[in-house]
Amino acid sequence: MIPRTQQAAYPPSWQDELKSIITCPKVLFEALELPLSALPSAQQAHALFKVRVTLPYLNRIKKGDLNDPLLKQVLPLEAEQSSPEHYSDDPLAESHHNPVKGVIHKYHGRVLLIAASQCAINCRYCFRRNFDYQANSPSRAQWQESLAYIHQTPSINEVILSGGDPLVLSDSTLSWLIAQIEQIPHITRVRIHTRLPIVLPHRITPALITLMQRSRLNAIMVIHCNHPNEIDNDVVQALTAIKHAGITLLNQAVLLANINNNAQTLIALSEQLFNAGVLPYYLHLMDTVKGAAHFSIPESEAIALHQQMQANLPGFLVPKLVREIPHRAHKTLIF
Ligand SMILES: *Cc1c(COP(=O)(O)O)cnc(C)c1O
Ligand code: SF4
Repeated sequence: MIPRTQQAAYPPSWQDELKSIITCPKVLFEALELPLSALPSAQQAHALFKVRVTLPYLNRIKKGDLNDPLLKQVLPLEAEQSSPEHYSDDPLAESHHNPVKGVIHKYHGRVLLIAASQCAINCRYCFRRNFDYQANSPSRAQWQESLAYIHQTPSINEVILSGGDPLVLSDSTLSWLIAQIEQIPHITRVRIHTRLPIVLPHRITPALITLMQRSRLNAIMVIHCNHPNEIDNDVVQALTAIKHAGITLLNQAVLLANINNNAQTLIALSEQLFNAGVLPYYLHLMDTVKGAAHFSIPESEAIALHQQMQANLPGFLVPKLVREIPHRAHKTLIF
């Protein structure tokens, strides 16, 4: 018998799950029984932007299928090496709206705080895949500067915790950060942008929910889910718990070539999100970030897909189709 002290806790804590993330292309290929002929190019693209996949997400991928819509979001490809000329490292010109380190203030009334420099998963199409997290690396000293900026800017009433993924932070760090934000009188809302309820659903613990619920701030969570296959029972449980706590729950998705660019998938996504307590918020057209051009679809196709959603769904299940235009102080509706 294994001595008690050497037994792993079961079920594993979310912290254990975070530590067992796959960060090596070879391990990913072996776990999913992928053809090893594609490994060398995956390793090259991994050098540009590291592989990161959680086990709960991996378990939803069909083995041996290079076309799996979830695998395609995390698998490094040779295509990442080449991008059209107008593709850039900073497609949204965020570095021009970076008044102090760790803060992106582009839109009226709300400010983005880079709360964490990592995610639990690396999405290959991420518009921040080349973001300078080094220069914006979050720490308490750094946050104090960001908080001071928010303090001095009374036009801001909403703080968005972004990153990276703010939910990779511990409850004690998050609790400290939210308490600091609560002390700024003109802030009324705190919003968390996170993919963890999808890729690491055990992160949604009763303690986290209490932390958000207890705040004097109106709490909003915006999750990121692109495909109905991303939603399993654990995800539904996590989302339902957030919804039952009275926290507003919204989803943003990105339109991705050969992953979710068909009406049936998008309609099923809206329906399944709503069944789990989530309202669709935004459907984003891809940003022109270097390394992700192969995910892009033409605007005309996006509009046609959006029209099919409108023809088949109640209005509240149709997300706004948007794109980001650099320097514009809001997202731009496409129709
Ligand atoms: C998307 C975004 C926000 C949030 O915009 P909403 O339309 O309020 O959801 C805020 N700041 C930046 C820089 C953004 O890119
Ligand atoms: S979870 Fe969001 S921020 Fe993180 S890699 Fe994916 S798209 Fe980028």
